Amino acid sequence: MEGFVYSQPGTLREAFSLLTNKKGKLVAGGTDLLGEIQDGIIAPGLLVSLERIQGLKTMREEKNGLRIGALVTLAELESDKIVAEHYPLLAAAAGEVATPQLRAQATIGGNLCQRPRCWYYRGDFNCLKKGGAVCYAEDGENQYHAILGGGPCHIVHPSDMAVALLAMGASARVVGPRGEKTVPLEKFFVLPQVDVKRETILAPGEILVEIRVPKPLPEARWVFRKMRERGAWDFALVSVAAYAVTKDKVIQEARIVLGGVAPIPWRAVRAEQALKGKTLTGPVMRLAGEATVTDARPLSQNEYKIRLARNLVRQVLATLA
Ligand SMILES: Cc1cc2nc3c(=O)[nH]c(=O)nc-3n(C[C@H](O)[C@H](O)[C@H](O)COP(=O)(O)OP(=O)(O)OC[C@H]3O[C@@H](n4cnc5c(N)ncnc54)[C@H](O)[C@@H]3O)c2cc1C
Ligand code: SF4
Repeated sequence: MEGFVYSQPGTLREAFSLLTNKKGKLVAGGTDLLGEIQDGIIAPGLLVSLERIQGLKTMREEKNGLRIGALVTLAELESDKIVAEHYPLLAAAAGEVATPQLRAQATIGGNLCQRPRCWYYRGDFNCLKKGGAVCYAEDGENQYHAILGGGPCHIVHPSDMAVALLAMGASARVVGPRGEKTVPLEKFFVLPQVDVKRETILAPGEILVEIRVPKPLPEARWVFRKMRERGAWDFALVSVAAYAVTKDKVIQEARIVLGGVAPIPWRAVRAEQALKGKTLTGPVMRLAGEATVTDARPLSQNEYKIRLARNLVRQVLATLA
């Protein structure tokens, strides 16, 4: 591992300058970034920590919802009383990430901006995402790869928090040398067909500073479920977050988001359409499960994910019924 300089700017302006002029790399909890450096995927000469920048570690509830600073840790989200009471989907998802030790260090900003876990990307392969000419997963070991939205790269987005936040209708506040913008989280992530080398809209020098989560409607209900292959700390094979607003048992609005199936947290729009205006009967849940995977295009070794996704959506809806 090559050495690097560690810098702790006190303001965002200083951070922008280090990120753009000195080609620094942003670090939050470091749980993903240091792994990338250790594995030789990146070799930044300068790490720019957000630690000393004011306001990024706070979380507060306002009239319209929750504001979460990018440096709030997953452990804080998991244990916060307000989150547990009013936004339990977030607490549930945070509690499903990795191990307690990791959650104590990992930040919400880092979780959303973490890089993919594709073993070719993490290994010694100069694939498309690293600037090479080939996606090794296409004809290789692709059992954990995407069944939806893939091509030319077939990663799955690794973040559990992104799935839950999208279902809650969250947005991301991004600041950079040219100003700031707030975008729906759905538009924060980009498919490989848009840009194969990155997973978010962040341009060099831009920083995700805050996540905003609207206050759920009183009639809203939600569920988060995650299926893993091995230990309790594993990444999702498939996960589903559902948020539904019902009136007299009829679904007025539903957001169904899947993790582990696509290069971005995947909104199952066809399933949502199948649910709107319906009550959650067996046939409706089955239809929504089928609609989730209508567009699936599995690779040679991951067809099993179609069944998992379809069944998990049905299970989640049964919990909401
Ligand atoms: C063993 C293990 C198991 C794991 N299991 C899971 C799991 O089950 N579910 C899951 O969701 N995740 C899992 N993870 C991933 C883990 O959640 C992430 O490593 C962590 O959330 C990253 O947060 P961090 O603060 O440490 O980010 P860092 O490692 O500091 O940064 C990660 C990336 O995001 C960028 N970045 C960080 N903050 C910002 C910001 N505010 N604005 C712009 N860019 C930023 C960094 O430049 C870097 O590229 C696992 C990781 C490990 C090592
Ligand atoms: S899926 Fe993406 S990251 Fe993995 S080998 Fe293919 S191009 Fe590289």
